[in-house]
Amino acid sequence: MRAAARFRVMRLHEYQAKEVFADAGLSVPGATLATSVDEAVTAAESVGYPVAIKAQVHVGGRGKAGGIELVESEAEVREAAESILGMELKGYEVHQALVESAVDFVDELYVGITMDRGAGRPVAMVSTRGGVDIEEVAAESPEDIFREHVDPAFGLHPYQGRRAVYGAGVTREVASDVASVLGTLYELWDARDASDAEINPLMITAEDEVVAADAVMNIDDDALFRQPDLEAMESESYADDLERKAGEYGFDYVRLEGNVGIIGNGAGLVMTTLDLVDHYGGEPANFLDIGGGAKAERVSNALDMVFADENVEAVVFNIFGGITRGDEVARGINEALENFDEIPKDVVVRLAGTNAEEGMEILNTDLVAVEGTLEDAVRRAVENAKDTEGASA
Ligand code: GDP
Ligand code: MN
Repeated sequence: MRAAARFRVMRLHEYQAKEVFADAGLSVPGATLATSVDEAVTAAESVGYPVAIKAQVHVGGRGKAGGIELVESEAEVREAAESILGMELKGYEVHQALVESAVDFVDELYVGITMDRGAGRPVAMVSTRGGVDIEEVAAESPEDIFREHVDPAFGLHPYQGRRAVYGAGVTREVASDVASVLGTLYELWDARDASDAEINPLMITAEDEVVAADAVMNIDDDALFRQPDLEAMESESYADDLERKAGEYGFDYVRLEGNVGIIGNGAGLVMTTLDLVDHYGGEPANFLDIGGGAKAERVSNALDMVFADENVEAVVFNIFGGITRGDEVARGINEALENFDEIPKDVVVRLAGTNAEEGMEILNTDLVAVEGTLEDAVRRAVENAKDTEGASA
């Protein structure tokens, strides 16, 4: 039900979108985020049984794919959290689960706001066939989704909200509450520069309460600069992504705040490089130890990591050849950089130790800058980072 991604969007996780929804006054189930089985148990106790344990990954259809479990006891929480945390869901590894008070519902509705590009206007949508099959409903019986176009200059008028809700066949008892949810969702969509905002399902309880049981919110990338709190949510998940990547590559990696990417072989060497970057007035973007035997693939994985960090403006390699031979690392760096059509950031290399001279000869100076001492290499990387900063400011 989302607009085709013709522009880039930042996707919020369910728990993040629910924070935004709750701040706007929408009713969401009580919940706590968990990253381990023990945390899930503590969370379930504080939330109160029964709970839904929900994988936090950027894909829909988690329910059908086994990413959501309803449980009623500590033993069941353990089992569910163990299977969900670390599972792979449609290509994404799950590192976080939302432990949420389970809603006892009698009905599942769908409400959503997106941009109708054909009409050139936002559209508010309501359906009484909410739940896991809404995509099918949209494809097979689109008439079951009531659509109300909105003039962005005026917003969603209350009468339009009511028309959409009654048009979709929502029962009288909850109609005004659902219309008010739709109104709030539209205001959020508009104020937060969203491309899509969706609640599916919007659960209706036996007591006619209306609860947002799931939440989707995608933000137009080009507008993120004016949504700093949402942008911060992205770097939260972004840091996770980088650290996950590091785990897959088998690197020791810590993301820091600065803009000078640092790659070295050996923890002490990397620490020294961090200190020197600081000493020369720069700010390290990370700690990255690629360990011994740095063949092309490892080097290229390391570059992939530092280049993926949006803060990085310059990179310094600090390699000390022991068992790792300088010529081998040099070949690795060449090969890794030859794979890029355009090297995204300036790379400075300092090689010392076994076969360092051969290595420096081998390094392709069209691709990297080579410095004979660590001090010079770091100073140059710090300057490169400052130049780029100046150029892009
Ligand atoms: P999605 O599959 O990724 O869209 O995840 P949802 O959060 O929409 O959950 C999918 C389905 O799981 C819902 O439509 C419900 O049927 C079920 N479900 C999710 N949360 C709860 C809950 O709190 N209580 C109950 N009873 N069912 C839930
Ligand atoms: Mn859903």
